[in-house]
Amino acid sequence: MLDAPVQRLPGVGKARAMALSRLEIETLGDLLTHAPRDYEDWCPRPIAEVTDGESVCVRGTVEDIRQQRFRGSRGLVVSKAALQDSTGSIELVWFRRGRYGAKGNQVKRGQNITVYGSVRRDQGTLVMHNPEIASQTVPRDAQLIPVYPLTEGVSQRLMRSWIQTAIKVCWDSIEEYLGISHIEQLGLLGRREAFKGLHRPKSYAHAMASRARLVFDELLCYQIAILSARYRQQHRIGKSHGPDGPLVSQLMESLPFSLTDGQRQAMAEVAADMESTRPMGRLLQGDVGSGKTIVAIYGLAKTVEAGYQGVVMAPTEILAQQHFAQITSLFASQGIEVRLLTGGLSNHEKADVCRRLQDGTVQVVVGTQALLEPDVRFANLGLVVVDEEHRLGVLQRQALAKKGSGDLLVMTATPIPRTLALSLYGDLDMSLIKELPLGRLPVDTRWISPQDRDKVYGFLRDQVKRGHQAYIVYPLVEGEETTKLAAAKTEAYRLRKLPVFADVRIGLLHGQMSSQEKTSVIEEFSQGHWQILVTTSVIEVGIDVPNATVMVIEHAERFGLAQLHQLRGRVGRGTAQSFCLLMGEPTTPEARERLEFMRETQDGFVLAEADLRLRGPGEILGVKQTGLPNLRMADLRHDGGIMDKARHVANQILGDDLFLSQTRHKPLVRELGRRGVVSRKHDGGLY
Ligand code: ADP
Ligand code: MG
Repeated sequence: MLDAPVQRLPGVGKARAMALSRLEIETLGDLLTHAPRDYEDWCPRPIAEVTDGESVCVRGTVEDIRQQRFRGSRGLVVSKAALQDSTGSIELVWFRRGRYGAKGNQVKRGQNITVYGSVRRDQGTLVMHNPEIASQTVPRDAQLIPVYPLTEGVSQRLMRSWIQTAIKVCWDSIEEYLGISHIEQLGLLGRREAFKGLHRPKSYAHAMASRARLVFDELLCYQIAILSARYRQQHRIGKSHGPDGPLVSQLMESLPFSLTDGQRQAMAEVAADMESTRPMGRLLQGDVGSGKTIVAIYGLAKTVEAGYQGVVMAPTEILAQQHFAQITSLFASQGIEVRLLTGGLSNHEKADVCRRLQDGTVQVVVGTQALLEPDVRFANLGLVVVDEEHRLGVLQRQALAKKGSGDLLVMTATPIPRTLALSLYGDLDMSLIKELPLGRLPVDTRWISPQDRDKVYGFLRDQVKRGHQAYIVYPLVEGEETTKLAAAKTEAYRLRKLPVFADVRIGLLHGQMSSQEKTSVIEEFSQGHWQILVTTSVIEVGIDVPNATVMVIEHAERFGLAQLHQLRGRVGRGTAQSFCLLMGEPTTPEARERLEFMRETQDGFVLAEADLRLRGPGEILGVKQTGLPNLRMADLRHDGGIMDKARHVANQILGDDLFLSQTRHKPLVRELGRRGVVSRKHDGGLY
């Protein structure tokens, strides 16, 4: 029955089925998981206690009922009733047009009724506009009535009655697929109980417990899908790299610094994966400036030494160029052939790189999305490195990995909250670099009112005179590009003319410049020619100029936490004290909270958690390319705890029976199939 189309329900025809499909409701099972967005509390309150602005239920006697007809306004009829209980009275008002269906018509003088609605105080009297009257869909004994998300053509009343019918019809088909021990251990409700409690709870606590069970189910199915993909991956045979040889050792010895413990640990994990025969799928997380790149370079050296090719994909041209420069400087002395492949190359140049990738003479290629094009083929791909991954999207990561059966190393730009990491990268093993390189000072972060801009300029000048460099960032908002770019541009002109910057060299960098222009500006900045770089969020990701000590962010209130943290990460990369000056006048409490957070913490993981709470997963990851699962009930902002439990249980279940072939897993496998998270083998097991 759960898979039966909604049209099975009495009163649901083609048109209403279409309306429901806009809510992604196709089957009776979908109806059951259509969660209320709120509940109305239908426990009657004494009228005397009701206050302005509340949504409440009251019960009383109809003392008076009047109807007024307005000729001029297309047959508008207003019904007004006075409702009285032992404590006071309230006015009920219904509006309607036309002749039928007005609630006011159902009400008679002297009748006892229970109504629900929002209350307003209108010149001293309490008024309830268009209150709902208790009826069959709102039984008297129920106190909490669900309020569902709706769409045009489906009323609250219809939705409630369809869902109640669906529960009855589906009752016998609702299967429990968790063992009793799990249910008790996790303190969960049974599935049937949970559906009943979600749609007709006895109390708020009951509603929440019911929701928690169904969220658990959803996340359990999702984690089973992710984890079984991961376990299957581990059963595949991939390329096996040899232990570190002379090339890798020489490279490591040539580094101008000593590695942090976190870097060593991450490299050891990468080495173990690469040297084993099972394919590596590893996520490298580390805060901005923690030195992830060198871990990737280590992997690349390993793959080259083993006679394979390596590829590095970055989300922007600037970043690709920077990686290219860094990799070339380390690899050139070892005679390794490194090439760049970006959209900025001429067709002729591209063709040349492609040819030499195919004949194997190019050993490492660094680039952007251009690497995904079909004519980019490898002779013998050994390692895929994807940097700043969540900007690229999961599909692109897979597309690249398919170009060879190589090992995969994913590096994230921003620390990702655990819950999101488990959703997005649950199929990957995780390495974490916790510490920053030795000698790094926390960035002194201040929040400054735009009125004090002159002081900031004086400060910038002072830093520049000490031989340091600075960034001034202007927001670049999609859809407003031209105006915002104009802002960065005009500001650059304006700043250059200011007496305080009379002998300061101010450069300009923004996203509408050609990639050649961008490269040369960055080159000039990193060589110290520009002392101040006026720019936009194009520099958010990855630019590495250790001599820069000041980051000024204009309109800081317009950036999200993750972005602010990234921007701040552009400074504090050398040993000198660095500063991040957030210029802005936040107008919303959230924006204010963001700036406070920035001042108080440097820990990217803490900031990421806060960002998740404040803005939600879509905002953090960029809505389009999140690769997040389509979850009906779970809210990744708040359900991290349930996610952890679900992952734990998923691991137990799969650890015990990877293909879920045992009879007792049949209901679970059916549920997984229903959710479309796995395809089923004909014998009932997974795959
Ligand atoms: P991120 O993790 O943000 O990608 P990078 O890999 O770009 O960080 O490294 C940031 C800077 O720190 C680079 O200039 C890099 O050369 C330097 N660096 C990396 N590891 C160390 C280390 N162990 N000691 C000192 N500097 C380091
Ligand atoms: Mg980086």
